[in-house]
Amino acid sequence: MIYRQVFDVINAGLVILDKDLRVCYWNRWMTKHSGIDCGDIVGSQLRDFFPDVYTKYFDRSIKSVFKFGNFVFMSQKLHKYLFKFPKNVSCFQSMQQSVTMGPIRERDNAISHAFIVIQDVTEIAAYDRKIREINIKDGLTGVYNRRYFESRLKDEFDRHKRYCHPLSLIMFDIDHFKSINDTYGHQYGDFVLKKISSTAIEMLRVNDMLARYGGEEFCCILPETTISSAMMVAERIRKNVETQDNNFTTIDASATTTTTSAKVTISLGVSELCEITNTCEHLLKKADDALYTAKREGRNRVVSMSLF
Ligand code: GH3
Ligand code: MG
Ligand code: MG
Repeated sequence: MIYRQVFDVINAGLVILDKDLRVCYWNRWMTKHSGIDCGDIVGSQLRDFFPDVYTKYFDRSIKSVFKFGNFVFMSQKLHKYLFKFPKNVSCFQSMQQSVTMGPIRERDNAISHAFIVIQDVTEIAAYDRKIREINIKDGLTGVYNRRYFESRLKDEFDRHKRYCHPLSLIMFDIDHFKSINDTYGHQYGDFVLKKISSTAIEMLRVNDMLARYGGEEFCCILPETTISSAMMVAERIRKNVETQDNNFTTIDASATTTTTSAKVTISLGVSELCEITNTCEHLLKKADDALYTAKREGRNRVVSMSLF
């Protein structure tokens, strides 16, 4: 096959299968990434070497190639990959692939073979993921940002309307944060923000979400949670922050013997969707009112919304 000269140097995988799904051609790119030589796999069923390739979707696709002469595109966004090849990119354990399959016809137009072209899109997918993260996360603390929080709250609100499951909100704010900044410096303030975010995340379940709502103000959405359970979560967060004062110790990067340690506390307001808080805005307002009450009553405490 004279075309092999081209097929073996292109930067993509090329596999040709016959109707029994036996491998008829396996280009050099496939050898490079699978470690399997063309001579070893040609003549074998693809299944014998790659049983994981035989998903329902692959089966349907390859049948439609042979039966109807269709071209099928398997996007990385939906399928991640067809062949599991190792790849050393931080956020993925395997090479991410875009795959195209199509028919190869004889002179009489009958379909005798199918081709599969595999493109490595790992770097593009990693970049996409990074951009998405930047869009939805807060750069300093790594928790979600306010924009994403608002869209998630709207989604959870819609779900609540449909299924009538409970939905609660915790809003919290660092006490006397201005004086922490003024006393210990802005950098130390940033350290406290990060530490409080990670402490709060540890207290939440996977379906809960934490967002940085403003400068030193955070919000947690707790789906499927009544106000009494949300109060317990809020109290756990408060207590963990309060009793962690040694953890707010940072070693000065320039003089390793110097440490800074501040007593840090937070105030929290909790609200739940119900007849009187039947919009997202109202739910937020009630949590904010409760937080304000917690501040007024002396800080370092949890207050739930009043029903009036
Ligand atoms: P209260 O107990 O009533 O909440 O008092 P407070 O001092 O925490 O509240 P105030 O609103 O007066 O101050 C908030 C401070 O948060 C002021 C602002 O400089 C600081 N801040 C906001 N964003 C950041 C940030 O990203 N990093 C740091 N270090 N400080 C921030
Ligand atoms: Mg504050
Ligand atoms: Mg504030």
